[in-house]
Formats: sequence, C-alpha cells, structure tokens
Amino acid sequence: MAPHPVQAGLTRPARPRDGRAPRADRCHTEPVDLKRLETTMAELGQPSYRTGQVWEWLARGAGSFDEMTNLPAGLRADLAERLPISTLAVDASARSVDGTEKALFLTAEGRPVEAVLMRYRDGRRSLCLSSQSGCPLTCTFCATGTMKFGRNLTESEILDQALHFRRIEPVNHAVFMGMGEPMMNLDNVLAVCERLPEIGIANSHTTISTVGWLPGIQRITHEGPAVRLALSLHAPNEELRSKIMPVNDRYSMREVVDAAREWRRIRRRKVFIEYLMLDGVNDTPELAHELADLLLPKNDFKVNLIPYNPTGTVYRGSPRESIDRFRSILMSRGIHATVRLTRGRDIDAACGQLAAKAAAA
Ligand code: SAH
Repeated sequence: MAPHPVQAGLTRPARPRDGRAPRADRCHTEPVDLKRLETTMAELGQPSYRTGQVWEWLARGAGSFDEMTNLPAGLRADLAERLPISTLAVDASARSVDGTEKALFLTAEGRPVEAVLMRYRDGRRSLCLSSQSGCPLTCTFCATGTMKFGRNLTESEILDQALHFRRIEPVNHAVFMGMGEPMMNLDNVLAVCERLPEIGIANSHTTISTVGWLPGIQRITHEGPAVRLALSLHAPNEELRSKIMPVNDRYSMREVVDAAREWRRIRRRKVFIEYLMLDGVNDTPELAHELADLLLPKNDFKVNLIPYNPTGTVYRGSPRESIDRFRSILMSRGIHATVRLTRGRDIDAACGQLAAKAAAA
C-alpha cells in the first residue's frame, strides 16, 4: 500500500536511542522564554539591553547564539550552555508540492503544537500560528476539536513558531488559524501581535480568527494593536450554527455578528467571514441567501468561502459547483466573496490535522 501522503512527506529529526521524542525538558537546560532570557542576563551580570540584542537577532532569523556577533563571545557561550534557542522542539515537518510547509512542535512537557508557512506566487509568506495546544471548543468539523485540550501557549511558544519559519526565510503575513481559540488566550496573543512587526509582519497583515468568543471581540474593539479580525461563521442561522459549532449555544450568532459590526465601526476595517463549505450541510442556495440577509444591509464584511479539507469527520467538502453557486448568489446580493485557495492538502495542513494524526499514531 502506498504510504499516506503525510507519512510520505514527513521528516523527523533523529530520535534518541530510546525512541522517545526529543523534548526540551530532557535537555540539561531550561527551555528559554524571553522572560527567562531576561533573568539569565541578570544572573550573568549583563546589562538589560543585551536581552534586546538577542531578540533582534532572533527576529532577523538567527538560529544560534553563536551568530549574535555583537555579543561578547563568552556571553554567547554562556547563553548557549544555559538556554536552548527555542521553547519548542521540532518533532516533524512536511512540505507540500505547492510549497506549503508545516511543522509539528512539542512543548517542553511534550504537548503538540503545529504551525504552517504558506508561500504564494505574489511573494506573500503567510504563517498560520497556533495559540493553544489542542482546543477546548468542539467544532464538529475540526480535527483539533477532536483532540484533548492541552493548555494555552505562552507568548514565547507562539513567537517561537514564527521564528522557526523566519529562520527559513523572511515572512510577511500571519493568521491565528492554527490550533486553538486565540481569544481564549488573548493576553499572550496580543503580546505576540505587538512583537510580530519586528519579525517583518505588520499588524495590518496579522489576522486573529475566532469562533465568535464574544468577550475577546469586545476587548479588541477597544484595545490592542490594529490587527484584522476574522469570524468563523460557517452557518447563517442559530440552529444550524449550534449544530456544527456548540460554542454558538454560549455566544449566539446574533450577538457575535453585532459585536463584529461594532468592531468594524470602531476599527474601520472590514471583518473577514470564514465560511467552510460542507456538502449538503451549509452550502445550499437558500442558505446563501440567508447569509446575505444576515450580512446586509451594511457592507461590513468580506466573505471567504473555504473548501473543506476532510479530516475523518462526518463531513465532506462541497463540490466546486456548489461553492461557485454559493459565491455567485452572495456576489449578486452585493457581498464580496472569494474562494480560499487550498494549500497543503497533501500534507494535512488543515487545522489540527497533523497533530491529531500524530496523537493517534
Ligand atoms: N478557533 C479559531 C482559529 C482556529 S481554526 C477559529 O475557529 O476561527 C481556523 C479556521 O480553520 C477556522 O475558520 C476553521 O473553521 C477552519 N478549519 C478547521 N478545520 C478545517 C478543515 N478541516 N478544512 C478547512 N478549514 C478548516
């Protein structure tokens, strides 16, 4: 039997003899995070600007302390001895025929985290970042939702996903569409957004995607950096949305859409509506009209129709004709809608897919 594409495309770093995954907590050193870097500098009797110098190097893609040539050689050696360069260990990586690259990391205590780099012809280099290991919300179509929830990731664990890819090449866009619900870890997500411009990703090129976690949307309406907002809607009425996204019973679609409109009014940017196309479930012409009714009259939104990446759930992706028909209806009603390019299908690049497979293996 031919190997499954994800197995075929997967390369794992060499494992220790006992076959256990390389884990940062098995190193003799503590996993770095930026706060720990600060305390280490203080312990070493270094001035605080040294921490900033290390960060500048990391943000420009340095992969080792040794490269940081404006630090004294002795300090570089001390740091290398005390701190690994990342809080995350790469457990596996895969590269798609379309250039999409996916990494599965492990936190210090061995929790899975995944991130993806998408390369586009126009030069965009877009990162898909995870904010949690696993996810406590149980969206019925999502591979991450079927995994056990781990925990919120720290600021450094999120940044280290970006730095991993920055070491490969310059990057310029980021979306929080990996594992987890970013609004449930908002302090850390916003702290990361503040730092991303130093890695090359402007706030206007950073998108936080949410299931509709109402307090989070309300908070970023009034505070935090000027990032973009995407709302995973996936259904145009309460009943259907509750069926496929149980979180809808907690924060109703109506409240969430109102909050998105308020965000648009204050932040003056359109909200992206994510709408997964599920065959025979949410892709009928009637539902396209219902979605148009919901989003009109004011043009506060841009709809992104997402072809479904099958993940072993009960759903099938809509055929191309249904997606095109759905889009035409929205356009004819004056709603801007695009169909998202599918990337990395051959490497299971959809949310949670690689980690869920690894957990099941
Ligand atoms: N919790 C946040 C961010 C993570 S999911 C949110 O829900 O917005 C990011 C996007 O990927 C969501 O729009 C989600 O619906 C979509 N997604 C999840 N599983 C998918 C799959 N199998 N194929 C395509 N898109 C998927």
